[in-house]
Amino acid sequence: MILLDGKKLATEIKENLKIEVEQLKAAGIFPKLVVIEVGNNFASLKYIGNKKKACEYVGIDLEVMEFDYNTSEQELVERIKNLNADKTVHGILVQMPLPEHIDKDKIINIIVPNKDVDGFNIQNVGSLSVYGNGFIPCTPYGIIELLDKYQINVCGKHCVVVGASNIVGKPISMLLLKNNATVTICHSKTKDLAEFTKQADVLVIAIGNPNFITADMIKAGVVIIDVGINRGEDNQICGDVDFEDCKSKASHITPVPGGVGVMTVAMLMKNCVKAAKCGLKGE
Ligand code: NAD
Repeated sequence: MILLDGKKLATEIKENLKIEVEQLKAAGIFPKLVVIEVGNNFASLKYIGNKKKACEYVGIDLEVMEFDYNTSEQELVERIKNLNADKTVHGILVQMPLPEHIDKDKIINIIVPNKDVDGFNIQNVGSLSVYGNGFIPCTPYGIIELLDKYQINVCGKHCVVVGASNIVGKPISMLLLKNNATVTICHSKTKDLAEFTKQADVLVIAIGNPNFITADMIKAGVVIIDVGINRGEDNQICGDVDFEDCKSKASHITPVPGGVGVMTVAMLMKNCVKAAKCGLKGE
């Protein structure tokens, strides 16, 4: 079994980006990301901490705008419009979840597509589906980079994606399809899930259910991409795959932590640098 080492690849990516950022700065462009956080959510603050570390490493200026839980939707809209118009800001990201009184889709779609470094804006989602470009959501983008790095060619392979969310399941399915895989998408209403997972040459799982995939649900030689980040019974971080049970049956597997999660942050940095380069071209 080969471990798909996201940590190592993420470091390589960030090293390369560091050089690109130096070049951008020499050309008078100072890449800047603004992260909007509403309501002091504990998990969000942890994720923002990871982004902060990565930005510091790569040389991207990060501004975290914190808003009170009771902030109105209209106020957020106005603030985002100002950021859209601000030429010193290259990337805008709204940390989820937002409080219930705020329409998250409306907020995401207020961000101009060329600053939407999360790739969640409807225009970027459309670009990904139709052309396979635009800003690609960071987690699926990281998965594709990992597969490339380990020379796992999905062309003609049966890729089974479990989980159909807008941030992971749907976009990774589109990217695998773009790379000529045969893609099956499963979700919570799928009947006889194991009948599908057992057929997978490549299994991507993103459901948020600790140690859900067990060895009897996979075929020998499968490539497993575990996107899940959960707390197990022992309170330790674990994925959606029972790693110990599956590792000897799989040909490749991502660890949790150290697999997809770290790649996600690295790809966010990549999207920020891409957004800053648009500034270089005067877009
Ligand atoms: P979500 O809750 O938005 O969607 C979950 C999906 O899984 C849904 O389509 C649902 O139908 C499906 N599902 C749930 N239970 C199922 C079951 N028993 N069988 C089959 N399908 C089932 O989740 P999400 O935001 O995509 O996140 C999923 C997991 O991935 C979570 O653990 C989350 O923390 C993790 N995640 C990790 C990263 C990363 O960077 N590694 C990024 C995003 C999400």
